[in-house]
Amino acid sequence: MPLQHLYASELSALCTKVQPFPVASPEVTTINHALRSELGLEGLLPNEHAILQALFSPEGTLQENSVAQKYGGHQFGHWNPQLGDGRGLLLGEISTPQGELIDLHLKGAGPTPYSRHADGRAVLRSTIREYLASEALHSLNIPTSRALALINSNEPVMRESLERGAMLIRTCPSHIRFGHFEYFYHANEHEKLDELFSFCFAHHFTQEAKSENPYLALLTSICVSTAKMIAKWQAYGFNHGVMNTDNMSIHGITFDFGPYAFLDDFVPNYICNSSDHGGRYAFNQQPSIGLWNLNALAHAFSNKLNVDEIKQALATFEPQFLSAYKTEMFARFGFTEAVLTAPENTTDEDSLISLSNRFIQLLSEESADYHGSFRRLSESFNDIKKGNIDGFCDTFLQLNEMRDWSKQYTTLIESCQANITQQDLLGRNPKFVLRNHHMQDAIEKAENGDFSTFNDLLKVVTRPFDEHSDLHALSLAPEDSDKGIALSCSS
Ligand code: AMP
Ligand code: MG
Repeated sequence: MPLQHLYASELSALCTKVQPFPVASPEVTTINHALRSELGLEGLLPNEHAILQALFSPEGTLQENSVAQKYGGHQFGHWNPQLGDGRGLLLGEISTPQGELIDLHLKGAGPTPYSRHADGRAVLRSTIREYLASEALHSLNIPTSRALALINSNEPVMRESLERGAMLIRTCPSHIRFGHFEYFYHANEHEKLDELFSFCFAHHFTQEAKSENPYLALLTSICVSTAKMIAKWQAYGFNHGVMNTDNMSIHGITFDFGPYAFLDDFVPNYICNSSDHGGRYAFNQQPSIGLWNLNALAHAFSNKLNVDEIKQALATFEPQFLSAYKTEMFARFGFTEAVLTAPENTTDEDSLISLSNRFIQLLSEESADYHGSFRRLSESFNDIKKGNIDGFCDTFLQLNEMRDWSKQYTTLIESCQANITQQDLLGRNPKFVLRNHHMQDAIEKAENGDFSTFNDLLKVVTRPFDEHSDLHALSLAPEDSDKGIALSCSS
């Protein structure tokens, strides 16, 4: 699969040529074989040695045209024009066997003109966290960047303390962020902004380019994909933590993992980022912040679209979000799209909304474990279907309220003429989610050269609906003493 350099050559004025800066004793500890073969990359990256050669040797194919991209971003609501790839490099693009364009990117590659005096490195801790998160989200069918390979090193990297440096090769449809458009718009570099639009239409939004109003179609498409992605975050209890506009992808994929968390206890206003004192990026703020970010992006369209057109595009966000959220949540109770569209189905949407909302409310009132509760519901499904609700309800503090809810659920399952099976629920409610306390354990061991827990975690979160009885311990929620691990932006 030949590597192309479309961004580097067609948008050379919007980026800077920078080569990866080698780290001490690099070692490829993990290759994502499934992704590599899906992308047809076995020829380019056949083994660990070839990956290091391609990145760091003078004739290496992955370093000859690598670039750092320029962008800006609204960080915690404040415009910052001084961003860009400070430690990541776009190595090039490939066309997949399916004809899609995919970026290869190296994170932790060393300093660039946009490093702002920082070291250009990433630590092993955050590299492991990004690797696991992207693969876990992908396995839950949530759009995300992907992890292709993890490179560990002996390079000492200074954060709050001295840590081990590492690198990640990741893939994305592109690394173009909301902040790319915002930067060239606010810098009054309208020719460059036009080049960026043309590039997107030519390579990434070819359908939108054919539309009667391509700019409206593009902005609408970004609003829709962002709404659908955030709906899935909310349904699967994922708190991104740093939804700055430089961390928002124009493809509506989860991107730039920092202090993210999957919820343990269901606390709607949970804040995973210890630097987010105001709770701007709290779990339950994510949908409205998504819209705020799209609004910031829309400014960059203001020479292309009139106010009504911009409003029209932004107005798609809320209905798309709500519809996608309902679809995800109903399916977690077994009311999948297949069940709901079956001709014999009689369930009405209002009953499902009240079923879902009440369950969530009960979890929130007693801070019950979010994923554990859904998994136990799935395991108890056959009993609940027959009206035997005690086994499921017994572990909740609000026993009577949960009994009432379960009776309502039994009635709905009965009245829905389409057949709901336990498998429908077990296939939507993961046994394994990427819990911080397990990840912490994996990181501590990996820092001492032992990747066994990392590999075990990777195995379970990439097949999260399977039993994996030998690795059952990795499904367990944290004890109180292991809850609330502080996660800062330091990475
Ligand atoms: P992030 O918090 O990772 O989204 O990064 C925000 C901005 O800071 C981006 O422009 C990054 O490239 C840059 N950045 C983060 N960490 C480093 C680092 N260690 N060295 C250089 N630039 C960095
Ligand atoms: Mg970022």
